[in-house]
Amino acid sequence: MHQQKDKGINPCKAGADTPSGTENHSATYHTLFETSHGRVGELRLSTNNRKLLTPVLFPVINFLTGTSTRGGGIWKYILHIFMQRQTPMLSQVLHFLDFNLIGKYLAKWRKKSMREHYRERNGEYEGVLFLDSGGFKLLYSTGLDLKEFGIHKETEADDILDLQLDFEGDIVASLDYPLPPNLARPEAVARMEQSLANAVRAAEKLAGRDNGDSAARTTPYLYTCCHGQSGEDIANYVTDVFERIGDKLPSFGLAVGSLVPLRGRDDSAVMERLNGVVQAIPDARRDTTPVHAFGVSGTLTPLLAYIGIDSFDSSAYIQTSRSLTYVQPRTSKKLKIMEMDAIDCDCYICKAFPLQEIQQAFMDKQSYKVTSTGKFKSEYYAAIALHNFHVETEMLTDMREAIQADDAVEGLTRHIAKYQRTRGLQSATAWLAEKDNALAIRLTRTLIQMPMKMVAEPAQRNPNQLELFPLTYGDTSSETPIIREGEPQTISLAYTPDNFRIPEEYQPPAGKEILLAIPCAGKKPYSLSRTHTIVANRLQTAFGEEHQRIHKITLSGLYGPVPEEFESEEAVIRYDFQLLPQNAAQIQLCASRFIDYLQKNRDNYTLTIGYATSKAYREVFSLVEKRYTGFILLPKELKQKRLSEFFRHAHLDTLVNALSVEGIMQS
Ligand SMILES: [Zn+2]
Repeated sequence: MHQQKDKGINPCKAGADTPSGTENHSATYHTLFETSHGRVGELRLSTNNRKLLTPVLFPVINFLTGTSTRGGGIWKYILHIFMQRQTPMLSQVLHFLDFNLIGKYLAKWRKKSMREHYRERNGEYEGVLFLDSGGFKLLYSTGLDLKEFGIHKETEADDILDLQLDFEGDIVASLDYPLPPNLARPEAVARMEQSLANAVRAAEKLAGRDNGDSAARTTPYLYTCCHGQSGEDIANYVTDVFERIGDKLPSFGLAVGSLVPLRGRDDSAVMERLNGVVQAIPDARRDTTPVHAFGVSGTLTPLLAYIGIDSFDSSAYIQTSRSLTYVQPRTSKKLKIMEMDAIDCDCYICKAFPLQEIQQAFMDKQSYKVTSTGKFKSEYYAAIALHNFHVETEMLTDMREAIQADDAVEGLTRHIAKYQRTRGLQSATAWLAEKDNALAIRLTRTLIQMPMKMVAEPAQRNPNQLELFPLTYGDTSSETPIIREGEPQTISLAYTPDNFRIPEEYQPPAGKEILLAIPCAGKKPYSLSRTHTIVANRLQTAFGEEHQRIHKITLSGLYGPVPEEFESEEAVIRYDFQLLPQNAAQIQLCASRFIDYLQKNRDNYTLTIGYATSKAYREVFSLVEKRYTGFILLPKELKQKRLSEFFRHAHLDTLVNALSVEGIMQS
């Protein structure tokens, strides 16, 4: 059933015969303790004898948050504590794009390693730094120009690896091209080939560094990124990885991407893909090949550790803290910190930050000044985040201890019993029980009810929605079904701005004299997305029948204006693109097309309003506002330019009020 490995008895054996300080062995992973249900392993890095015990959960962090190490709001505090505690951390190296860092400042940052930059503030950091390539950052934003950062389209994989090397990550992941759900097969194949080619190049480059390039400061450990559209698909990919890289590096890891969109929606698919990866590793390499699951954290991690996944990363801990959500230890219930009476947690954070103090700080109005407690709010946001991360880590630590005690089945049963009502866990548990009969029997004795394999429900239509924003154009409306039930439409990343233009002869429908422009959404047709549904419902409630005088024009980040009648066009349904604030050329294109549209149809509208809260889309609308008289951008005052502001009642109210001005009646 299980076997104790020799090397498990003396974990220090590998480096023991070389005098410390002089050895220059290359980084390697080995299994310390293996069972048929999970394993405990150790990654030994080439610098300063740094080590990492697996299974492990990395917090996702940002360190390029401004012009110096002094800025970054919440990050300043989070980095300080993680570094002082030597916590292993993961960062994707393109995160500076989220902080509006310009090329000149990035160049300054690149002169020293991350550790050197932060040494003065946070002390010596000897935890493990994992630098991901940030491939997903480029996913929906083709055409983003990164030249000012020394990243050129033709050499992007090399350029990004150089960036990872400059910051001296102990672990680096090769640049990959994630697969969004339902991506058309030929595009998925091309992207997988490209990801693999990048991995091969990175392996060659790092192997070269290892062999006597004495100028090299450190040689990081490589994780090659793996993608696939099914368990079998990704297994084939892994086989290719070992064929092409196996002899280049004695040990390297596999980092599995494209999982985030599946998480919570179809967790059995997450299990299936990761299991495909584990099964495809050649037997002789299994002991020395760690597997990382990108973007997976929380209650799913013990199940994945059970099938042999070694590491995970979490950014959830930050997201929950932003909404002042406190994750309760032992239950993982999400509580609103302002509504809590007491904290029942003895972690290092909760000992240092009394609940009353946190609540007092958040009752203060000021945002960028010291609160009445003498500290900034961002320090408390950081505290909540760190506590939340601690809770996530505990879950995995318990599982690691169970594996080490050769008690994985019991450890996992305890975990599943505790969280059996959690949505995501049910389909993952069902998947596992189907493969593992012993576990299935054990679970039926403990669980209230064994989860059945869940069948994904087809996308729901919202009747109000269809009525308010018709999905079809002209007289074809009754013939064209928008969504073929049970058969998801594939998407394509190959669309360019040329694939959709409003036809020359287009006329806005009669009787719709109020133009409302709102940004596009990931979900297609747009009308079924959360943002569009919320606006539609709000307008319907406010105006009743009168809402029909409103003409919705979606601002597509790729195409510019898309009148509601075109929402079901193939090019509009199948593209996927996200407009980023850095993409100046695309922002200009969208604005010009929008202004052209307004000028051409000037006589049709008595009122033109744009409603947007995220930065890039607001920028388009402010260009329109500057160059087209009468265009109104809402909300006027915005504390933070981000999507969450979109849903604020106060902002939606200003929209309703602005529309009411033009004689449209509130019901
Ligand atoms: Zn705590």
